[in-house]
Amino acid sequence: MSKLEIQGIRSPVGDNIFWFIIDSNKNGILVDPGEDKPIVNYIKSNGLMPDSIILTHDHPDHTNGILPITNEFHCPVIGPENENIESITQAFTEGDSFERMGAKFEVLSLPGHSPDHIGFIVNDEHFFCGDVIFGGGCGIVPEGSYDIMFDSLQKCKELSPAIKLYWGHEYTAANLLFATQVEPDNVDLVKRLKLAQENIATNKFDAPGTLAEELKTNPFLRTDQPGVIAAAEQKHGGKLSTPYEVFAVLRKWRSGG
Ligand SMILES: [Zn+2]
Repeated sequence: MSKLEIQGIRSPVGDNIFWFIIDSNKNGILVDPGEDKPIVNYIKSNGLMPDSIILTHDHPDHTNGILPITNEFHCPVIGPENENIESITQAFTEGDSFERMGAKFEVLSLPGHSPDHIGFIVNDEHFFCGDVIFGGGCGIVPEGSYDIMFDSLQKCKELSPAIKLYWGHEYTAANLLFATQVEPDNVDLVKRLKLAQENIATNKFDAPGTLAEELKTNPFLRTDQPGVIAAAEQKHGGKLSTPYEVFAVLRKWRSGG
């Protein structure tokens, strides 16, 4: 298995993180290039050779850089089946796997945030989860897709706790602040929030995080925990009988509902 280095840069105009998977020969796979200029600058200033682009879903803040980048570097574009991305050259879905730069990529179907959202597990160790899981939170979900997103999050919970998560946006401190409204007595959460706030002050990422850490602190992965259930029931104003119902209340609450 090839040794990989993973680097991320933050969008200069938004909160997206653009990830680069880099091998020892400076070939690079670009993950969800939502802009071209900062990514092309990074490629040139680090002497990278783009091997390919991989995409988790079709939202413009993850895809806007594809055309200018492929016009300049002519690399394949790998992404989900059925999403609205014209430039895809190879489409994958649940259970598919492929190799790039000597590394093994496994594809997980994770719908909810978008209908055909996928995630990529690289060498059993790195999980590019797009807008499904964020540090301390999860992606927004259109009305009618809450159950689908809940199932995708349950699927992520089954992965190895040691797996590293590379999310598509850095919202960690804001998510954890919300999480402390849900679970004010969760000691791990309070500690993590403090660290995330320090990271903002020093301009550091919270990503990658581990699934183990999310399982201890991310309320959207803790919808079976008594404290989370109690907080959601209080917000809802009545009994909730399943973790899915708890999830739906939390997701609306997080969006201000
Ligand atoms: Zn998105």
